[in-house]
Amino acid sequence: MMNFNDIVGQRVIVESLRNAVINGMISNGYIFSGPKGCGKKFMAVIFSMALNCRGEAHDRPCGSCSSCIRTSNSNHPNLKLIKPTGQSIKIKQVREIISDTARKPFESGYKIIIIDGAEKMTIEAQDAFLKTLEEPPENTVFLLLAENHNLLLPTIVSRCQVFRIKPVDRMEMKSFIQARYDYPPMDVEAAVRHSKGIIGRALELLKDKENFKIRALYIDILDNVLSGNERDAILLAPETVEDKETAERFLDFSMSWFRDIMVMRECPKAFKDIIINIDSLDILSRHNLILTEDKLNSIMEIIKKTYIYVKHNVGIKNSIDGMLFNIAEVNSYNGKNSWS
Ligand SMILES: [Zn+2]
Repeated sequence: MMNFNDIVGQRVIVESLRNAVINGMISNGYIFSGPKGCGKKFMAVIFSMALNCRGEAHDRPCGSCSSCIRTSNSNHPNLKLIKPTGQSIKIKQVREIISDTARKPFESGYKIIIIDGAEKMTIEAQDAFLKTLEEPPENTVFLLLAENHNLLLPTIVSRCQVFRIKPVDRMEMKSFIQARYDYPPMDVEAAVRHSKGIIGRALELLKDKENFKIRALYIDILDNVLSGNERDAILLAPETVEDKETAERFLDFSMSWFRDIMVMRECPKAFKDIIINIDSLDILSRHNLILTEDKLNSIMEIIKKTYIYVKHNVGIKNSIDGMLFNIAEVNSYNGKNSWS
């Protein structure tokens, strides 16, 4: 039975949506904006359930009436979902929606159109959509999901109520996960710290045991590099870096690792609450002793540069290998200041 309480850490948005439902003050357009995995679609589904729920107004969505159940299974006749075909949402798709909304709803209640990846509407598609939004059919609600709503025409944004989904507080996410799942507490701690406040990312990390193995491998690679065994590290790297996505994951991890060391240095009293890789404190502490501040700064610069190469698809494998060699070189250098 899903309802608003299943949305974690978005109290302001949830209150606002709940009040809209209770007071019957429903806008024609809503934008839910936030990174992948932050729960935009989930929020849109819960809100759609609430809009057509047959339960008591203050209790919507009840999660158990036939309308709620069909909405949550995405087979409610009044609910449409569109998403990009290929790279974009094309004008043809938007036209279909427009002609569809012009018809009467199959059931009483709201007609709801969820546009997933709304910022991927082509300009023509956005223009066509804008016209509908300017003169919306009665009882029709558009829910636009976007990773970056600034890519939408300002005239669309200004006609919608915009909700920016915020990173979830770490403690709140932890208790949310622990109340619903049965994962080892240390895994939950590590996943939550790596999630950057994005619930979907934390759950994905937990669901896949493989992720913990990959993290162990990442740590192994960096440990080898800082112990002067960079050749071993480069032998390990091919297993972890296959394409842009896996390369970026490794870079994110490397960044979090060296940032943690920075934090240990800058906040010697409070770092345990702040660092991400709390479950590898012993190795972090060892690396903290090895690295000087200059070296640490140079390493962060090397990683940042590698991000740019990978982003532009410049020899991804070689870029990562090069990064590991450069880090090893910085680390073994005994002079002063010449790397900064
Ligand atoms: Zn219901």
